Amino acid sequence: MKIGIVGAGPLGSFAAWKFGKNNDITLFEQKKKITSKHSGIFSTDILNYYKPPKNIILNKVKGAVLKINNKEAIIKDKKIRAIVVNSQKFDENLFNEAKKVSLYKNEKIEKVDLIGKSVRLNNHSFDFVIGADGPFSKLSENLGIRQKNIFYGLETIADCNFFDKKLVELYFEKKFSDFFAWIIPLNDSEAKIGVICKTHAQKKFSNFLKFLQIKKHRKIIGGAIPIGFYENFIFERLVLIGDAAGQVKSTTGGGITLGMKSVNLLFKLLKNQQYCLSKKCLVKNYYPVWKKEIGKELWLHWRIRKFLNKLNDRDYEELIELANTLSKRIIKFGDMDYPSKFLIKVLDLNTCLFLLKNFWKLF
Ligand SMILES: Cc1cc2nc3c(=O)[nH]c(=O)nc-3n(C[C@H](O)[C@H](O)[C@H](O)COP(=O)(O)OP(=O)(O)OC[C@H]3O[C@@H](n4cnc5c(N)ncnc54)[C@H](O)[C@@H]3O)c2cc1C
Repeated sequence: MKIGIVGAGPLGSFAAWKFGKNNDITLFEQKKKITSKHSGIFSTDILNYYKPPKNIILNKVKGAVLKINNKEAIIKDKKIRAIVVNSQKFDENLFNEAKKVSLYKNEKIEKVDLIGKSVRLNNHSFDFVIGADGPFSKLSENLGIRQKNIFYGLETIADCNFFDKKLVELYFEKKFSDFFAWIIPLNDSEAKIGVICKTHAQKKFSNFLKFLQIKKHRKIIGGAIPIGFYENFIFERLVLIGDAAGQVKSTTGGGITLGMKSVNLLFKLLKNQQYCLSKKCLVKNYYPVWKKEIGKELWLHWRIRKFLNKLNDRDYEELIELANTLSKRIIKFGDMDYPSKFLIKVLDLNTCLFLLKNFWKLF
């Protein structure tokens, strides 16, 4: 089958790599050079879809310290819960794998036309198209999808003191971020430091760097992150994936692991039902599996994010005290990708009281 893939970010490249073994793939990328925009932290679940080369894994993390003002909760497992990779090398590696099994074109796709049994991208024709062109997807725009709810992430690398090399630190003060700010240790002395914000990202990032007393750091990188729950990603002979489809966990801003899982589900379907390319067939056969395995989780991430966004610093202090009392259960059942696996299990009397007190914020 002739497949066009738009965007050679981590998910477009992953899709090209996955589909390229049995199909005729053309991978379009507008940029001349692959540049990563993410922190490169993934739950170990990613290893079910893609195993990055060992030499690009920089750290293995066992949990997190949640912080606000003078309160903190330490959630540390004995097991490795997440890996931290060199994100630039991770994206380049995926891209190089993709290029081995596809035709790469350095071309910006401006126009998509769904014509009968083919899809046209600029003046190229395909049997099927995968749109992985990121948060400001041109394909989405051409297909009439409304603009997504965009947050902005900024990040740098610096020498810095942290609590424990095996723990990520998350800060919830509103002066640093209206999402969260982070320190991700890379080795004994260096860490990735970043924030995600809806507004005033640069100001809040500079507040955070000042608070950490960081004067020298590497170049600041960053990008847009679609936050929300979006279901409109299936079209006639075309499926959007990753940021283009808004498939990002609204609690963490991470999109790569579940994005890879979405690609995997599509790959499995088209391997077994090669002719399931029409919107009708994809809605019948792809959407329900996606909803059950991924959509349900993304919806829950979004519900949790909506609730968290309504909390003030005082509420977060209470939440962190609660996390302290629940740390054993969070370690046992917590999962950064699949909230449905643990939400019910961490409910106790105090959590219920907290939710009751903040009941109106749930809606
Ligand atoms: C600061 C920050 C930290 C993050 N940290 C993490 C993390 O630790 N873990 C995690 O899982 N996620 C993280 N994310 C989210 C993650 O970066 C995205 O979910 C992921 O990059 C999505 O991949 P993608 O391939 O769908 O889109 P993108 O990475 O946005 O790639 C889209 C590609 O398409 C190309 N393109 C766009 N339009 C066109 C066009 N018209 N024609 C041709 N090419 C086009 C772009 O140039 C780009 O290369 C982070 C995001 C930010 C901003």
